[in-house]
This record gives sequence, C-alpha cells and structure tokens, in this order.
Amino acid sequence: MASETQAGQDGGAALPLPPMKWDAWGDPALAKPLPEDIKGLLAAALGVSADAAAAPLAAEDVRLRPSTLAAEDVAALAAVVGAAHLSTADADRLPRAGGKSTPDLLRRRSRQPQDAPDAVLLPGSEEEIAAVLAVCAERRIAVVPFGGGTSVVGGLDPVRGSFTAVVSLDLRRLDALHALDEVSGEAVLGAGLTGPRAEELLAERGWELGHYPQSFRYATVGGFAATRSSGQDSAGHGRFDEMVRGLRVVTPAGVLDLGRAPASAAGPDLRELFLGSEGVFGVITRVRVRIHPLPAAKVHEAWSFPDFATGAAALRAVEQQGTGPTVIRLSDEAETAVNLAMTEKIGGTQVTGGCLAVTVFEGTKEQAEARHERTRAVMLAAGGTSLGADPAVGWEHGRFSAPYLRDALLDSGALCETLETATDWANLDRLRTAVTAALQGGLGANSLVLCHISHVYPTGASLYFTVVGAQQGDPIAQWDAAKRAACDAIMANGGTITHHHAVGADHRPWMEQEIGGLGVKILRAVKDAVDPVGILNPGKLIP
Ligand SMILES: Cc1cc2nc3c(=O)[nH]c(=O)nc-3n(C[C@H](O)[C@H](O)[C@H](O)COP(=O)(O)OP(=O)(O)OC[C@H]3O[C@@H](n4cnc5c(N)ncnc54)[C@H](O)[C@@H]3O)c2cc1C
Repeated sequence: MASETQAGQDGGAALPLPPMKWDAWGDPALAKPLPEDIKGLLAAALGVSADAAAAPLAAEDVRLRPSTLAAEDVAALAAVVGAAHLSTADADRLPRAGGKSTPDLLRRRSRQPQDAPDAVLLPGSEEEIAAVLAVCAERRIAVVPFGGGTSVVGGLDPVRGSFTAVVSLDLRRLDALHALDEVSGEAVLGAGLTGPRAEELLAERGWELGHYPQSFRYATVGGFAATRSSGQDSAGHGRFDEMVRGLRVVTPAGVLDLGRAPASAAGPDLRELFLGSEGVFGVITRVRVRIHPLPAAKVHEAWSFPDFATGAAALRAVEQQGTGPTVIRLSDEAETAVNLAMTEKIGGTQVTGGCLAVTVFEGTKEQAEARHERTRAVMLAAGGTSLGADPAVGWEHGRFSAPYLRDALLDSGALCETLETATDWANLDRLRTAVTAALQGGLGANSLVLCHISHVYPTGASLYFTVVGAQQGDPIAQWDAAKRAACDAIMANGGTITHHHAVGADHRPWMEQEIGGLGVKILRAVKDAVDPVGILNPGKLIP
C-alpha cells in the first residue's frame, strides 16, 4: 500500500486483522472462480464480459488516503487502550475501510486514493470505551464502531463529518460469555463475539441462540443488535431484536443498562432506541439474549408451487395458522430457474420450474415431527407439491456460500447485488412488481432480477431481491442509479426502506420518508442527549 504520509508506519499490520479478506467475502481458501459453462451462459444471456470487470488489486497497490490523526491524538488514545491496541498502519486501516456491499468491494478495486479510518483502536473493556469516547469528544474525532465488518449499507464508511479525523473502534476484544442463566433461558454475550463463537460457547452448555443470517460466520452480536439483524431461522426463533432481553450501551454521556424484567410497563422501552441505532447513539458492549436448548431433531422438506402467488399464499397460511416451521422461504420463478441453471439439480431432486420453497423444523423429535406434519398439511392444501427433503438439506448445507459467488461474478464482469424490504401480505405483490420493474428499468433488459420471501410474519413478509447483469462503464454508478430507483419504488409502494440490512449511509436519504420529519427530530433530540458533540458515526442513520 502506498500512502503519501506514512504516519510512522512500516505498512505491516500491528493489530489482529479482521478474519475476512479485505476486498472480498470471507475466507480466501473457500473462494472459487465461476465455472466456464456459467460464464458462457452469462455471456450469452446477459452480455457479461470479463473485459468490463475492474481487476482486483494487490493490497500493496492500494493508494490509501494518509492518516490525518495528529501525534498528540494518537498519544492520548494510546494512553487509554495501550499502544499495542492502536494502529495507524495502512495494513490495519484498509480492512476497516468499509463493509461488504458490492459498491464497497468495487471501491477496493480502485486505483484512485481510497479512504480509510485514520486509526484503528481495539478497546478491551467498557471503561476503555468510555474513556476513548471522552478523548474523541474532547479532541473532536469521529468514531465508527466496528463489529464483524459485514455492513452492506455504508454503515462502516469512514465518514469524518465536521471533524478532521475518524477512528475505527474494533470491538473484537469484547468476546466473553458473561453469564448463562439456565433457569430463565438467558445469556449475556459480549458485543464482539462472532455468530459461530457465540453459538460455540452456548453449545458447550447445551444451548443455542439460533440467529443465522447469511453473514453469520463473521458478523457479531453487537452488530446484530445495532442493525436489527434477521436470521434465516427467524420463523422459528424470531429476529435478533426479538431475542434481546437487555443491553449495555456506552454513550459519550454515560452508560445505560437497559431491560430489567421480561416485560415492563415502565414507560417507552428504551431498548428499542438502541436496537437498530447503528453506532450513532452509543457503543453496545453486552447483549442479554433469550436462548433455547439445542434442538434434538431436525426435519427438512422442499416444495414446488406453480407460481409465486400460490406459494406466497401458502407461506401466509402457514404463518397465520402458526404451524411452527423454523425456516420457511419461497423463491420466485426467476430465482428458482437460476438455481436450476446453476446446479441443474438442487440437492439431488430434479426441479422443473415453478417456485421452490424450503422448510426446516426443529425441536425435540416429537415437536419437530408435529410441526412438520401441521405445516405439510397446510402446504399441500395450498397447492404445493413435495420435493422431499434433499433440496432443503442442500439449501441448508450451502446457505453461507452464496457471498463467495458474488466475488466470482464481479471478477467475471457481472454486476451482482441484493436489496430487501418488507410489507403486509395484502401489498406484497404490488411491491414486488414495482421494485422488480424499477431494478429492471435501472439496469436494462440485459439483467436478471430475482426475488424470494426471506422472512414471514402473521401480517406480512420481507422481499429479498438479487440482481445480476453485465457491468457497464462505472459499475458503482450503474448500481447506484438502479438502487435509487428501487428505493423510490419501495417508498412509493408501501414498503420499508430496510427490513434487516439497516440504514447506514446508503438508506439515509429515504429515512425522512420512512419516519417523517417529526420522527427525524426525535432521533436528533436523542442524539443530542447521548452524543452532544456528535462524534459517533456521523453521516449514518439520521438525516
Ligand atoms: C453476504 C452478506 C450477507 C448478509 N446477510 C444478512 C442476513 O441474512 N440478515 C441480516 O440481518 N443481515 C445480513 N447482512 C448484513 C450484515 O451482516 C448485518 O447488518 C450484521 O448484523 C452486521 O453485523 P456486524 O457485526 O458485521 O456489524 P458491522 O458491519 O461491523 O457494523 C454494522 C453497523 O453497526 C455499527 N455497530 C457494529 N457493532 C456495534 C456495537 N457493538 N455497538 C454499536 N454499533 C455497532 C457499525 O458502526 C455499523 O454502523 C449480510 C451482509 C453480507 C455482506
């Protein structure tokens, strides 16, 4: 990496690095290039050409904007966290330069100077976090809390706002299981625990949290709470915000310990202010969560529906009758066809068009079987055809691999990105049609827009869109235009600007439409109370 001012660094990492590759998803050892026949298919169907793709850069070739943190600021912050837990080295700043959206990954390929936080800090305790925030407020330094680094909405952009420097507050050292209450079924987890580590610690005692977003392997407990994450097992275990019983949050104005009882009438629930607060109001340090015993049994079944409307009606019936699947999701015709083209066979069972649905059931053996039977009856009555267990087992087996495919698509000259929203059942079709048309219009005829129902509720569902097209010109600008059209369509057609990806910098322009001018004023008033200098995550969430 070339930096115009080296800030006294030799370019080598001084801190433990985030586990993910800095310019791609996950573990480099698991990345695979796109098979030649798929490349041929993409070229023929969408005009995708590797010639259009910006080539990945070697880390040494990235030109990073030099650190602007003054030597006195470095010394003041090092006095809090210890010199061993602070770095201004490019090799530490680059992996915390942003999240993992497609624009983030494309930006990492730029030969222009790239922005990054001016320093990285790894605090080891709440006291250190409080002291870091005090130093930053006094010295006017912006702070971006960093969990697993998986934000897809610009939540980790190194925005300085009105300040001259910004630091990344990497929370990985807050990685303890603080308490496990087996009587109440609750655990207190450190914010920096990744999904797998949290599950591992709980499993040692026979318990499970059951929060499995696609980013599970890298995202953290604090990040789940800060973004109101939703996992793929949400039909059974709920969204992450529904699992949270209590929170500890360090703000520049003091520490909050929220959530005293399983339910309370003591005024508005302040936990709700900090769930989804995206590092703008404070740093979440501990989360008390509801847990459940590890399931003894699992049952899988996949389904085919003749069309999306029939499948959606079946999912609605299942959810409204409360038959109890842990996982239930439905791909539209296009997504089902692409899955088919990608694998020819899904999990060993030939799928012949229509719309694929996947269900999984958990619990004791009796519970899992009873939930399965009840759901099965509803799916059959609603027009579903069983495809057996294999496609659902295959889906579960590969569910954390899709992000690697995006990297291979980007390398091959394809543009691939996702977005999501939610609405009531009665409005689902209108919203899906409008967003599909907006994306298709934005990206042109040579693009595919795929959709699935990813999460269900008695009153509605979330829609998750994936687009694949040919990169043309500046792919960041290309996606930006399509995404803007889709966000406008979401707002005009009764959707929420985000069901689970959060707001960050990217969705912020639509926040006022989402919550109204008075809603924005309330968020600003809270911000003034807890962060009067405004150091925490400027430019995110609040317009
Ligand atoms: C491939 C891929 C798949 C994804 N799949 C899903 C999915 O299935 N479901 C889903 O909900 N999301 C998904 N996401 C989005 C993302 O993983 C979630 O938003 C996740 O909850 C972020 O957690 P993190 O620890 O990585 O947080 P980060 O990305 O590090 O941070 C996210 C935001 O929260 C703030 N923050 C982080 N930790 C704290 C803290 N302790 N206190 C205060 N603020 C904090 C950050 O400043 C930032 O604004 C996916 C992302 C990718 C790239």
